Amino acid sequence: MAKRQEQESADPEVTEVAPNVLRMQLPIRMPGLGHVNMYALLDDKGAAVVDPGLPGPFTWKAIQHRLRQAELKPKDIHTVIITHSHPDHFGGAARFVKEHGARVIAHRSFRFGIAESVSSNQPEVSVEDLEAQRELEAAHEAEQGDTRATPGSPHDHDHGHNHSRNPEPRRKDLPQTGWWGGPSPWGGQRPRPPLRRRLQWGIMRALGGAMNVPEVSHPVEQGDLLHLAGREMFVLHTPGHTPDHFCLHDPEAGIFLAGDHVLPSITPHISGISTSEDPLLSFFYSLDRVGEISGINKVLPAHGHPFDDLSKRTEEIKRHHYERLDKIREISRDFGRPASVEEFSQHLFKRRSWGSMAESETYAHLEHLRHAKEAESHRDNDGVLFYLTG
Ligand SMILES: [Zn+2]
Ligand SMILES: [Zn+2]
Repeated sequence: MAKRQEQESADPEVTEVAPNVLRMQLPIRMPGLGHVNMYALLDDKGAAVVDPGLPGPFTWKAIQHRLRQAELKPKDIHTVIITHSHPDHFGGAARFVKEHGARVIAHRSFRFGIAESVSSNQPEVSVEDLEAQRELEAAHEAEQGDTRATPGSPHDHDHGHNHSRNPEPRRKDLPQTGWWGGPSPWGGQRPRPPLRRRLQWGIMRALGGAMNVPEVSHPVEQGDLLHLAGREMFVLHTPGHTPDHFCLHDPEAGIFLAGDHVLPSITPHISGISTSEDPLLSFFYSLDRVGEISGINKVLPAHGHPFDDLSKRTEEIKRHHYERLDKIREISRDFGRPASVEEFSQHLFKRRSWGSMAESETYAHLEHLRHAKEAESHRDNDGVLFYLTG
């Protein structure tokens, strides 16, 4: 299969994708991803950057190289905006804060430590990639502990803007487990990644120093108005891919900064391990909220190329998940008995994608059906969850 645009390696060339908005591609190596787009929003005081890549000197070098092309210095960056709590989006933030005192904007529920990533439409992510991702998160969880603020319910600041509140039922029984071994919420042990991977991660950390999660100096929430790139941009809280994901919308120019919420050719990973009881429902709701916005002519995603039809893409992504739900019903019918999350996931995903992330996404879909009263679940004596769809 041809390479998806999100997998392309980072093009060093900086491009102006809208007036005062520059796209700077930073190299990353994550499941199905070859680059992350850092957008620089220029104004008379310097610039704000959105999603400054992974932590570590390799990214920092690329950031400096891209800024130079725009005749900017790191000290010109007065603001760092982080669309959600994934390391490929917040990596460079702490460095901008440490060296240049930049302010950090993220959603008020910003919290790192719950495993998510990005998988492709037809799952093509390799087991190794899944493990690398898991490691990244595990290493970080171990480092962070659980000290970050827990997310609260989103407020709805109505600035005459009709983006409404998102439903986000809170999950209270969230297991505090790392990704290296330990039980999963659906039962069974999570395997440790191979030694080679753990060593690679150790080297990355040694090179990059600790993967600092930045302190958020300016938490934002639904409906907040930000002045960026000499224009007004509204905050849209879009939980689903992560509970703390948000997008930025400039209604006047029709520009939409989408983060990982809506990507051009892959679907964001929806993890069953979330503070939301039904993360897939949150995601559907957030897709509908952005899909109904009129007048958008430029969508700027965190991975892949800018595109223009936001509502068409949200429909495609929804359809993908509806198909997965249909497939799960079909699998359940074929089993003719309650089946475990692992069993479902191995019929839903190709063999090379089997593992925690595939199971986590399967779990999200099964829980969605259970909340919709289309599936029932029970635990066996070993604590393993079994589902049967109606
Ligand atoms: Zn992400
Ligand atoms: Zn991402």
